Amino acid sequence: MSDTDARAALPRTDALLADADVVRAATGRSPEQVRRVVRGVLSRARAGELAVDAVRPEVLHALAAPASSLTPVLNATGVVVHTNLGRAPLSEKAVEALVAAAGHTDVELDLATGRRGRRGSGALVALLEAVPGAEAALVVNNAAAALLLAATALAQGREVLVSRGEMVEIGDGFRLPPLIESAGARIREVGMTNRTALRDYEDALGPDTGLVLKVHPSNYRVTGFTGSASVRELAGLPVPLVVDAGSGLLAPDPLLPDELDAATALADGADVVLFSGDKLLGGPQAGILLGRAEVLERLRRHPMARALRVDKLTLAALEATLRGPVPPVPAALHLDPAEHRRRTAAVREAVGAGEVVPCVGRVGGGGGAGVELPGVALAVPEACAARLRSGSPPVVARVEGGRCLVDLRCVAPEDDARLAEAVRAALVEG
Ligand SMILES: *Cc1c(COP(=O)(O)O)cnc(C)c1O
Repeated sequence: MSDTDARAALPRTDALLADADVVRAATGRSPEQVRRVVRGVLSRARAGELAVDAVRPEVLHALAAPASSLTPVLNATGVVVHTNLGRAPLSEKAVEALVAAAGHTDVELDLATGRRGRRGSGALVALLEAVPGAEAALVVNNAAAALLLAATALAQGREVLVSRGEMVEIGDGFRLPPLIESAGARIREVGMTNRTALRDYEDALGPDTGLVLKVHPSNYRVTGFTGSASVRELAGLPVPLVVDAGSGLLAPDPLLPDELDAATALADGADVVLFSGDKLLGGPQAGILLGRAEVLERLRRHPMARALRVDKLTLAALEATLRGPVPPVPAALHLDPAEHRRRTAAVREAVGAGEVVPCVGRVGGGGGAGVELPGVALAVPEACAARLRSGSPPVVARVEGGRCLVDLRCVAPEDDARLAEAVRAALVEG
């Protein structure tokens, strides 16, 4: 075949894009991604790098191969912030921003002057607009990194005062004291497990005190005969007060009355409040620090800040989360009960089996310990749970009381049909 004949024998881009097998192989990819793959394969064929009859198999292969081994799953557990499922799913706007930032961006360039710009200033401005009580903002890799940076910059070689009631384990064996100690600071425990008063901090305060750390109990509760010093009381001490608010509420949420929010902590006098970006805020993994300009400037200028900084993708997704419509996490938290029932009944209808039962959702390890989110779930036989997990898409449901509960709270409404299909397949297998 001459070159001209070979080129004439190549399928047309449009024909490939309309090919039923190609459409099926491209599940989950955007039309733009599919077009890019098809064009790429065709151009290799035109360049003679690929035989003409290898074009279609090559396209199918490229489209069907997952881009990474991380498999998207449907979270039907009813646990809103599920650390093992990647915590917060990003909003559509945040995904858009992430993709747009994936190439070259002006992350550290002022396009107007051509000079170097402040890295990620858009996300920082969005944070300050969201929490007007903050003088300055800083974003690092996660809340643990934020804590490490604060302890290093403010208390290296000195003491960090922490209440005995706030010596927490974050999860997966990571505990607060070793983290603080790895910053070269010493933990000085004050008070008792159930009760700590301002007086306990005052007694421990000395020339060696670097900072007072208040950790909000987001994943546990101390109840009974208890007491702790408030942020407002601790703010009167003559050393920096750092508040680890953990779960990332920017302002009070009536649904979570016991959760400490950033605006309140700052209004009560905290010098720095830090929290996660991917818990209740519903954004990308990040550690956000808000507070007094002078203190945050010390943190920003510390050499360790450079080692903990975030990439342009995080900055883009964080800014879009803050500016965009309500992200999936707060939406799942505040899901309208009537809507929850209606969607669950519709899925039950599509599946043609199972029973709609009451089901209590949870905020998750990210915060709101003990808070119950009343709702409903579709109950199917327990054996379905494992089949759902190994299905496509994998569905992670909850096993409770000998049944498998499929809770739609954290499932995006546009995924209801895929969820119903997955449940139907899991029931048929049994
Ligand atoms: C979750 C949590 C952390 C850790 O946050 P990461 O962003 O996962 O590092 C720290 N402190 C508290 C109180 C938390 O709830």
